[in-house]
Amino acid sequence: MSKWMDLIPRPRSKFLRVKCFDCGNEQSVFSNVATIVKCNVCDAVLAEPTGGRSRIRGEIINIYE
Ligand SMILES: [Zn+2]
Repeated sequence: MSKWMDLIPRPRSKFLRVKCFDCGNEQSVFSNVATIVKCNVCDAVLAEPTGGRSRIRGEIINIYE
């Protein structure tokens, strides 16, 4: 049951490659955003801050340490 916890990225500095659900645009999003990050193309919200860790609202394609 605790295995699921191991899959959640720890709150440290990472870049996520996120694909916008709406338009398919890919862009890099910091894992600990301080403000809302919007898609460069269609202005949809891609990430929002939730107490130290980003909540990602697109498809995470890749994670860069
Ligand atoms: Zn978009």
